[in-house]
Amino acid sequence: MRVDVVSIFPEYFAPLDLSLIGRARANGVLQLAVHDLRTWTHDVHRTVDDTPYGGGPGMVMRPEPWGEALDALAPAEAPPPRLLVPSPAGAPFTQAMAHELAAESHLLFACGRYEGIDQRVLAHAATRMPVTEVSLGDYVLFGGEVAVLVILEAVTRLLPGVLGNAGSLDEESHAHGLLEAPIYTKPPSWRGHDVPEVLRSGDHGRIARWRREEGLLRTAARRPDLLAALPADRLDKRDIAA
Ligand code: SAM
Repeated sequence: MRVDVVSIFPEYFAPLDLSLIGRARANGVLQLAVHDLRTWTHDVHRTVDDTPYGGGPGMVMRPEPWGEALDALAPAEAPPPRLLVPSPAGAPFTQAMAHELAAESHLLFACGRYEGIDQRVLAHAATRMPVTEVSLGDYVLFGGEVAVLVILEAVTRLLPGVLGNAGSLDEESHAHGLLEAPIYTKPPSWRGHDVPEVLRSGDHGRIARWRREEGLLRTAARRPDLLAALPADRLDKRDIAA
């Protein structure tokens, strides 16, 4: 997968050399390039912002550098990337969206700062590529960089060959609309707290049932919205009894 990120703070992306993302980059699964938006400015101050039309506090990112950046990274003659613009006013980022993005061949991220990017940049981009405004959650960050780090981490771990054991993807929280059951490792007893007997029983049927029920109980307690959204055919009779 090819990924381009445009930001006025390229240094934010240094962690993408670490751990499994760093390895995905080293072995070519992820071809990531981070670009400084100021490359596409032409004045001595390398200006990227200006005051908002209509008044109000803060500054808005000017369209010209963004237009040039998108022209350079998504030239008309090449297959268009999918443009992702982090925004607290965007569609909520979910595991389902992570899967959708993992199936794309080229993602282009535009990191806003200040009060955000002039809306005409998105309107113009939408005439030649798919554009998605995406929100990390119902709160406001300083800029889109942290959102891109989160999205890239969630997407990269779904790419084939990135996780040592791809089976983890099938058993974790949000894989099937539920939260994962509690997990334990050795020792069997620690500071008066024991690992549940069933997990030490070696009975794989009982363990699978216990995990399913604990996942359901946890989801009901912490995220009733997820349980309510679960299609009825994802629950079996034993789930309902539990
Ligand atoms: N004026 C904007 C609004 O009220 O919707 C908020 C701008 S915010 C201070 C600056 C930038 O941070 C945004 O353009 C966006 O790139 C990023 N950002 C802030 N909160 C975010 C969130 N919850 N999800 C994704 N990106 C966010």
